[in-house]
Amino acid sequence: MDVRSNLKTIEENIERACEKVNRKREEITIIGVTKYVTIERTEEAIRAGITNIGENRAEELTRKYNSIDNEATWHFIGTLQSRKVKDVIDKINVIHSLDRLSVAKQIDKRANSPIECFIQVNVSGEESKHGLSPEETLPFIKQLESYEKVRVVGLMTMAPHVTDEALLRKVFRDLAELRDSIQREQLAHAPCAYLSMGMSNDYELAIEEGATHIRIGSKLVGTNET
Ligand SMILES: *Cc1c(COP(=O)(O)O)cnc(C)c1O
Repeated sequence: MDVRSNLKTIEENIERACEKVNRKREEITIIGVTKYVTIERTEEAIRAGITNIGENRAEELTRKYNSIDNEATWHFIGTLQSRKVKDVIDKINVIHSLDRLSVAKQIDKRANSPIECFIQVNVSGEESKHGLSPEETLPFIKQLESYEKVRVVGLMTMAPHVTDEALLRKVFRDLAELRDSIQREQLAHAPCAYLSMGMSNDYELAIEEGATHIRIGSKLVGTNET
């Protein structure tokens, strides 16, 4: 399917989810995750109106960034090793996966202007997942105060790969509550207003639970278009 048709379906689903809980469509940003697809397919997505592009590997982000002329906002959504920060820092606007001081330190050292960072939280406690535990999150954010180039704009999580709606809702709701509690701290370096949660299989639920940034790959651009 072409990206425009996929996007039309996704937009309808977003509208429906927003209506259900009385939210506005403008509160939600779609990040098109292009990690599985070609440069051409990524350009098709940008032409279809997806101007926020997400990649999870430094090499692939660099490759696409260097070959794509269209205007886009680049999001790094994968685990970033501190030694790779220098390779992507001048290309990206947003990092969704900050969970280590060593990475924050590199961002602070290498960035020319503040980078919007989401703190990755492992809400579900699955061992295979990256991110901080909910308990570690506020202390970690407080430690970031001295890094002037790190601006904590929100929290990010990856929900478990299940179809259990109640479980998914609980993960999203827990992240929203954690975000609220961090906002109440009123930390100047951490406005923490956003929630990056929801992927192809669960973005409607995530929106109902307060997502502001949804990261959609397979249902938007597919997985191996050539
Ligand atoms: C791959 C990926 C996505 C998108 O996954 P889909 O299920 O294809 O929508 C979102 N977030 C992260 C961090 C990813 O690695």
